[in-house]
Amino acid sequence: SLSIGIVGLPNVGKSTLFNALTKNDALAANYPFATIEPNVGVVGVPDPRLEGLAEVFGSQKIIPATIEFVDIAGIVKGASEGQGLGNKFLANIRETSAICQVIRAFDDPDVTHVDGDVAPSRDIETINTELILADLQTIEKALPRLEKEARTKKDKEQLAVVDAVQTAQQILNEGTTLFAAGDKVDLNLLRELHLLTAKPFLYVFNLDEEELNDESLRAKLRDLVAPAEAIFLDAKIESELIELPDDEALELLQGLGQEESGLSQLVRIGFTTLGLQTYLTAGPKESRAWTIRKGATAPEAAGVIHTDFQRGFIKAEIVSYDDLMAAKSMAAARTAGKVRMEGKDYVMQDGDVVEFRFNV
Ligand code: GDP
Repeated sequence: SLSIGIVGLPNVGKSTLFNALTKNDALAANYPFATIEPNVGVVGVPDPRLEGLAEVFGSQKIIPATIEFVDIAGIVKGASEGQGLGNKFLANIRETSAICQVIRAFDDPDVTHVDGDVAPSRDIETINTELILADLQTIEKALPRLEKEARTKKDKEQLAVVDAVQTAQQILNEGTTLFAAGDKVDLNLLRELHLLTAKPFLYVFNLDEEELNDESLRAKLRDLVAPAEAIFLDAKIESELIELPDDEALELLQGLGQEESGLSQLVRIGFTTLGLQTYLTAGPKESRAWTIRKGATAPEAAGVIHTDFQRGFIKAEIVSYDDLMAAKSMAAARTAGKVRMEGKDYVMQDGDVVEFRFNV
């Protein structure tokens, strides 16, 4: 399954954040398979629409979509050279589908910074440099083989791969991650190399309470990492929030000028950063969100429930969540002409409430 690796220098609040994510009752999905490894957490994706559906259908249970977070320890300067837990770090991060960098912006004389002082842009550069160096090593190892293959086979696709890998090498040599390089290189052609900086990035800035609402600081930090998404939170407050009952947590958040907890934002944005979206099913037993990639067709979506659903797909009966809620029942939505029959070429839209028809 798809996972997001949490990386960052020591003492930036990674563990605080990871523990809050996995202990949070509102996010901790009660899946039987949630017990993996101590550094892996399965987290439910917050979606208020599920409660809306459960009310309309009288569902006994709500089952959110989930994503996995992996707490990846060990990045320090020189990690790409095997410093610290360097090699283990690189192996762990290679297995994830996206990289979430936690960057310290909070000041606290009691919490030492490994490089002396708090400097977000320097820390981002430190981490990116290690990832870039690791990718350059991978390329240097692979390129001679790829070039030889392309020469002997004279295969057009292989030649395109070599070309893309050389472009990637130039980009990395300029100190830019492949994710930030935009459309300068076709990342699909680099896939077999599993390069670290080709993964989607997102950034969590761990701020002081007073910094949370500092718009000019936030804009500055956002610019540092664009086009990647930036999330601003105070990990210490997040770990206090999860200990509170819902209403008190909301009150505390609003007191800080926030509408949604940082954890909830992280999970929501992490999910879309992975290129994922959900569709919804509902009935008296459960209201549930199912994970598909953006652009998935109706039969592919059916296949997420069961491969037989995809194989025997006939059509999908679909109503948008908003139309369903406006009509207040499936029957009323039907009468209002809001329920559509979609065929095998239909591309699923966010918020589709679906019932599949299939042959077995
Ligand atoms: P890690 O090494 O990146 O996993 O960092 P930890 O989560 O272990 O945090 C290191 C120290 O910083 C701990 O003492 C935390 O309590 C503290 N800490 C984490 N987040 C914050 C924060 O937002 N503000 C302050 N003041 N301290 C924090």
